[in-house]
This record gives sequence, C-alpha cells and structure tokens, in this order.
Amino acid sequence: MSYTEDASVCDRKQEASTANRPSVTRFSTCRVAPVRGLSSMKGVRVVVVGAGVVGFSTAVCIAEALPFCSVSLLAEKFSPDTTSDGAAGILFAAEFPDIPLERQRRWFKNSFDHLLDIAQSRNSPEAGVMLSSGWQIFKDVPADKKPFWSELVIGFRSMTDAELKRFPDHKFGQAFTTIKCECSSYLPWLHQRFIKAGGQVEQRKVNSLQELSNAYDVIVNCSGLGSKQLAGDDEVHPVRGQVLKVEAPWLKHFIRDGDGKTYIYPGIHSVTIGGTRQEGDWRLHVDEGEAKSIVERCGALEPSVSRARVLSEWVGLRPGRRNPRVEREVAQLRGRRVPVVHNYGHGGWGVTLAWGTALDALGLVRMCLHKMPQRAKL
Ligand code: FAD
Repeated sequence: MSYTEDASVCDRKQEASTANRPSVTRFSTCRVAPVRGLSSMKGVRVVVVGAGVVGFSTAVCIAEALPFCSVSLLAEKFSPDTTSDGAAGILFAAEFPDIPLERQRRWFKNSFDHLLDIAQSRNSPEAGVMLSSGWQIFKDVPADKKPFWSELVIGFRSMTDAELKRFPDHKFGQAFTTIKCECSSYLPWLHQRFIKAGGQVEQRKVNSLQELSNAYDVIVNCSGLGSKQLAGDDEVHPVRGQVLKVEAPWLKHFIRDGDGKTYIYPGIHSVTIGGTRQEGDWRLHVDEGEAKSIVERCGALEPSVSRARVLSEWVGLRPGRRNPRVEREVAQLRGRRVPVVHNYGHGGWGVTLAWGTALDALGLVRMCLHKMPQRAKL
C-alpha cells in the first residue's frame, strides 16, 4: 500500500513552510543555508537516484541544507553520458497543463535567480553558465504574447518591425536576455559541490526501489526517463531530440522558432543548432536526413550557418510527461514503509526547472523527516 501527496497539496504546504524560513530558499553560488531544528535527525540516510541536472541539483540542495543527514547519489550514468549533458540548456519554458501557474513561476524564478548568480560570478566559465540574448520568432502571432516567465527573464519585449525584417516568414517576435546552462560543465561543477557538502557518489544501476529500502531512510527519485521502469510510471515517455554542435564564433544571438523545432543557440565553445521533437521515439542514433533538415532550417533563419563546421552530432531522449512529478509518497517496500520523494518528468525543460524543483524536493524531504517515527530519527 502506498499513498501520494498530490502536487497542489504539497505546493500549499510548501508555501506555508517556506514562509517563515527564507534562509533555505537563498539562491546563490553560496551553499544552500542549513536548516536548523532538525539535528535530532543525525544519521538519517537519504539516497538520490539520478546524476542528470535534476538529480545533482536535488542532491546538492539536500546535502547543503541538511548537513546532519548522510546523503548518497546513485546513478547508472554520469556526465558526459546523461541526457542533460547534450541539452542546449537555454532557460525558458512552456506551460504545464495541471500545475498551478504560481508553482511553475516559482520553479522558473528559483532556477533563474540561482543560475544568474553563477553567470555573474567568477565561477561562470567553469560552471558553464552564461547570459544569452536573442529572439524567439513566430510565423503566426501567438495567443499568449507574454508567457508567464516574461517578467522573470531580463528585458523581455516584443520585437520591432525593423528587427523582424530579417525574418520575412515570421510575423511576431520576442526579444530578451536569458541564461544558457551547459550541463557538460555544470554537472561536474555540481558534482564537486556535492562532494564538498559531504555527499557520496556511487555508479550503479538500480533495478527497483525495493533494493534501496533497507539501506536508506528516504529515497529521492530523480531518474528522468528511467522512472518509467523505476516508478512504474507509464505516463513517462521519450521525446527524441537531435542537435548538432557547430563552430560559428561570429554568432552571438540565439534564434528560436516559436514552434520549438528549429533553434540556434550560441554557447561558450560552440553553437548548438537543432532540432527535433519526436514523441515516443526511442532511437538514439543520429539520423543523417534529420541532420540535413536541421542545417537547412537553421540556414533559413541565419544563412551563415551553412558555412559553419560541424563539430559533433547528438541525440537525446527528453523525459516526457504531461506534468513533471514533484511529490512525496510513502511506499511499502519489502514490508517497510519508506518515504519516497519523486522529482522527474521535466520534458524539454529540465535544465530550466532543475534548481526550482530541487528546492521543492528538499521541502518534501524535510516533510518526510518531520513525519518519521522518533526511533528512526536517532
Ligand atoms: P537525465 O539527464 O536523463 O538523468 C537521469 C539520470 O537517472 C541518469 O544519471 C541516469 O543514469 C539515471 N537513472 C535512470 N534510471 C536509473 C536506474 N534504474 N538506476 C540508476 N540510475 C538511473 N532543457 C532545457 O531546460 N533547456 C534546453 O534548452 C533543453 N534542450 C534540450 C535539447 C535536447 C536535444 C534534448 C534531448 C533535451 C533538452 N532539454 C532542455 C531537456 C533536458 O535535457 C531534460 O529535461 C533534462 O536533461 C532532464 O534531466 P534529468 O536529470 O531528469 O534526466
């Protein structure tokens, strides 16, 4: 038997519990502030499954905020072999249908503020986090001209007619400055930060959550697409994405077609061009026909792309789900009631929302600690 705390309930409890403790939600390159008043939890064993951007963000938040717990991270794959590693890592988002907009706004803002601090610090190149300015353009004027995150990025405005002239097939556009977070650098950086906070890391495939039920008191599931099997969640499905990295140091602005399928994102060492969004497609090999189509589509937006040297090609499977699952459940595992916090299913927005959902997951872990029988706390 297991019960689940639904996301909106958690949301309200989270709002209430964060109201009086601003210290935990301090977003900076500094440590997440330790939580006071739970030191009787000394020795509680927490395990995070997953070493992508969601897993490492969550593990860092927990290890820094709950230094009296022993925090381990287990994963089958680490950087550079996770889905997160190949993501373009640009911060903006689509709206999830069933999650209160306030919660989505908080996820976005918490992530943005955290990464902005890094982008503006001396850690920026090492962590792979930079500011990025550019345009999102639309062939048809969208119903919602001001998405919920428009006030959270920097300098959001509609493009002028003069700016739109270079995109004759597009009728409307938005100009803004956001963040690009390159996980091939960011994940090793978070890994170091986790170790510094006392975390332990082990490479291993977990075949079922039952395996972990004796060795740990709280399980945090950040296994992305792996949750299909690990959490038995049939809602989770792959959304295939193919991209190329090209050498084009003259490109300084991002360009994204509002349909989400064609984009040019200049980064620290290369420019990512893409892409595809193929629901339910498990193919992990590069499709040459699709690569050609990407170069053509991007060339239509920025002709000089056709002259750029291709550095690498990559395919990743986004952990698609109608809504991300950020919630707590108590599972009956091998006869023991074990609290499980889920944080997965971020689809095409995992880099954008990782820190925000990690802070929510931290709040849920704290809730698990509060509800633990006294003897388990000793
Ligand atoms: P992953 O990175 O897939 O990590 C999952 C982890 O769980 C891995 O370590 C894996 O080994 C582990 N795991 C799974 N099952 C098990 C198991 N049974 N036992 C042990 N370990 C297990 N997002 C953005 O926000 N902005 C973008 O610009 C962007 N661009 C993208 C472009 C492409 C082409 C693609 C494919 C994705 C893009 N994304 C983007 C989406 C983003 O990559 C994902 O949302 C994000 O990587 C999900 O992170 P995750 O940590 O949940 O999953």
